[in-house]
Amino acid sequence: METKMFKRIKELTELQSTSGFEHNVRQYMIEKMTPLVDRIEQDGLGGVFGIREHQDKQAPKVMVAAHMDEVGFMVSQITDRGLFKVISLGGWNPYVISAQRFTLQTSKGDYPCVSSSIPPHLLRGTNGQSQVSVDSILFDAGFESKEEAETFGVRPGDTIVPLVDTILTANGKRIISKAWDNRYGCTVVLDALETLQNTKLPNTLIAGANVQEEVGLRGAKGSTTKFKPDVFFAVDCSAADDTVTTNGTFGHLGKGTLLRLQDPSFILLRGMREFLLDIAHTHHIPYQYFVSKGGTDAGAAHQSHYGVPSAVIGVVARYIHTHQTLFSIEDYEAARELLIQVIKALDSSTLNTIKSMN
Ligand SMILES: [Zn+2]
Repeated sequence: METKMFKRIKELTELQSTSGFEHNVRQYMIEKMTPLVDRIEQDGLGGVFGIREHQDKQAPKVMVAAHMDEVGFMVSQITDRGLFKVISLGGWNPYVISAQRFTLQTSKGDYPCVSSSIPPHLLRGTNGQSQVSVDSILFDAGFESKEEAETFGVRPGDTIVPLVDTILTANGKRIISKAWDNRYGCTVVLDALETLQNTKLPNTLIAGANVQEEVGLRGAKGSTTKFKPDVFFAVDCSAADDTVTTNGTFGHLGKGTLLRLQDPSFILLRGMREFLLDIAHTHHIPYQYFVSKGGTDAGAAHQSHYGVPSAVIGVVARYIHTHQTLFSIEDYEAARELLIQVIKALDSSTLNTIKSMN
């Protein structure tokens, strides 16, 4: 595998930015996008986009958006014992929260932190742990009291984000990391901008990343209102369902990029489906159809402005919204190729053809 690609994936997946607190990833995106675009613009909530302007003002505006936030927690209360009660930012399965390493991010600095768990010894003679909820899990940064935590700068509203090293699997074909949802999107935006750096495009390209996707597709509303794209592509990571069987399930590792047909907030229109299929077939890009129970920023974007034709160029990963997500490098490469070819193909007449099939 290209070591440059792994380096970028490792850097982005190890950055720690939960919803509403995306500055670490934003800083990285600004630094890497700046030499590749005409200018950088931010929306009011912190979504950040690089713009490559076409000379012809009539050229279609193509927007490509990742999201910078990952699931995490916010301190709601500091207990007398110096531990933290939290609320979740984004969707967590309560069974994967306990006994993990996190970073507590405060205005005075970052501190190591763990999520509480109950040793089997203390469960002896009880009925065990019948129900686990976010409310029942405390976070522990080792402070001896509330007062001590406060002297270290801890305040309600501070964030707690998973801490994980990104590694390659033994066969070199897959990667284990946190937050591939959605540093995949950030990685593919940067890779596409880099690949297309010296290519003349038939459109104005607006590529970057939204904030606050994990808490309900919030950032996409502001960014699409600001940039008023003619066509929108979310680049996002979805849940794989392939560990026991691939029979009748959606999202299989190693089977290519995702062609998302439907989710609760989005349907793929016929013209867009035909366009994506045509690009995939022409360039021999492996893809799989995907139907999802969760949404992406395309769900918010297509309803903005005067209605924006939208699609998702996605990948799947196993065990998303946890500390340890596992995904395929080949799937990433397929998605990257599809995105690059889509951007190269989208001129006015292609967009008109897509829209004429509605
Ligand atoms: Zn997510």
